[in-house]
Amino acid sequence: MVRVIYPDLIGADRGRDILVGHLPSACTHGLSFCRAVYHTSPQGDVVPVAGGLDAGLPDVSVRPDLSTLQALPWEPGVAWCLGDTFDPATGEPAPESPRALLRRVLARAEEYAGSPVTPVVGPELEYFLCEADPTTPSGWSLYGGATGNVYSAGRRGDPDGHLLRTLRSLDGLGIGVIAGNHEFDGGQFEINLGHSDALDAADRAFRFKAAVKETARREGRLATFMAKPFNGLGGSGFHLHISLVDGAGLNVFEDPGASDGLSATARHAIAGLLRHAPALSALLNPTINSYKRFGPDTLAPWLIDWGLDNRSAMLRIPPERGAGTRLELRLGDASANPYLVVAGTVAALLLGIRDKSEPPAPLEGYGYQEDSAPRLPATLGAALDALEADEALTGLLGEAFTDAFLTYKRNEIERFQQHVTDWEFTEYAFLI
Ligand code: GLU
Ligand code: MG
Ligand code: MG
Repeated sequence: MVRVIYPDLIGADRGRDILVGHLPSACTHGLSFCRAVYHTSPQGDVVPVAGGLDAGLPDVSVRPDLSTLQALPWEPGVAWCLGDTFDPATGEPAPESPRALLRRVLARAEEYAGSPVTPVVGPELEYFLCEADPTTPSGWSLYGGATGNVYSAGRRGDPDGHLLRTLRSLDGLGIGVIAGNHEFDGGQFEINLGHSDALDAADRAFRFKAAVKETARREGRLATFMAKPFNGLGGSGFHLHISLVDGAGLNVFEDPGASDGLSATARHAIAGLLRHAPALSALLNPTINSYKRFGPDTLAPWLIDWGLDNRSAMLRIPPERGAGTRLELRLGDASANPYLVVAGTVAALLLGIRDKSEPPAPLEGYGYQEDSAPRLPATLGAALDALEADEALTGLLGEAFTDAFLTYKRNEIERFQQHVTDWEFTEYAFLI
C-alpha cells in the first residue's frame, strides 16, 4: 500500500491509502479528493473558501511526489508519499496548496536578493503529551508521568520511554531527526530536525508532526502541537533556524570582518523579519490560541526585537559563525503549518534584503521590557489585519493564497466569537 498524504491549508495531513498497483495511474491522472475537505474545520464546520463549497464541492487532484516515497517504520508493507494538489480543470496548483506557495516564494529568491541564494532551514518543534481522562470535558489531560522539567534526562523526564520510542520511529522515517529532550513543563518535549533546503525542511517538519501524533496515538495518547494547551504552563514553539547560501554554497550571513560577525545581507534579513513580523505572525501564529503563548518571561516572544544569542528576543542570532551563521526565529508556535512558516519567513527576509532595510540596535540583556520595542499583535484578528495590510508580503505570497487564508481564518474567529467558553461562565455566572 502507499499512503498518499498532503498538507491542507492549516497543515493538517489528509490522504488516502492506495494499492501499490494503482500508483502509476495516480501519478499520471492524480487522485481525486473533495476540495471542500480543505475547508472543513476539525469541529466539522464547513468553512467557506472560494472554489470549495460555493463551487458545489468540486474535485481537487492530488499527484504523488515520488521523490518523497518512504517506508513507514511502524506499518510494515505501507509506504508514505507526499502529494501536490492541483485543480483538475486547469492542471494548475490549487491556490491554497502550501507546497505550491513555498515553491512560488523560493522561485523568486534570486530576483529579490539580487543574486542566486538558497535558504537552509532547520526546524525545531515542541509538543505536549496527553493521556485519556474521562473526567475532563475534552477527554484528555496532561501526561502525568513526566515529573521532570527542562533537560531532565532518562526516566525522570521520560518515565515510560515515550521520547525514546518516538525518536526511534522518527529515525526509521529518515526525516533527519537529531535529538530530543524534555522541555520546561511536565509532559512537554522538544525534538530537533537537521537542516536542509527549504522545501525538504518543510516536508520533514510536516511529516514530523504527523508521525509524532501517530506514534502517540499508537500508545493511546495524544501529542498536541497546540500553541498553549494549558493554563499556567508555557506554550510550544516552532523555532526556525535559517541561513542563506550563495551559488557556491557559501553562507552569505557571515562577515568575519564585522564586529558581530554578521554581513550586511544578514542585517537586511533581520530587518525584514522585524518589519514584517506583525503580518508574519498571522502565518506563524495561526490560531486564536496562539496569542496566549506570547508574554513576558515565557521564552516565547512578546516584543518585535532581536538579540545576539538572546533567548528573550523574538529573533535570536545563535553564537556560531562560519558555515553555521544563522538566524533563529522564535516567533512561530507549533500549531503553524510548516510550509507557511518557511514560506513566510523566507519572504520576509527576502523583502528586507531587497529593500536593504537596517535593523535597530540589538536587544541587550533580558528583554520583555514593555517599552523597549513594538509589541506583537495581541490577537489573531489583529495579525490577519496586519497581513492584509502588508502588500509587499502578500505580493510575494500571492493574492489567491492570501485570500483563501484570510477567509478561512476570519471564519474561525467568527465561529469562536459565537461560542460561550468555560471562562465566561466562571467569570460571570456567579458574580453578576
Ligand atoms: N516553549 C518556548 C516557546 O514557546 C521556548 C522554550 C525554549 O527556548 O526552548 O517558544
Ligand atoms: Mg525548546
Ligand atoms: Mg530554539
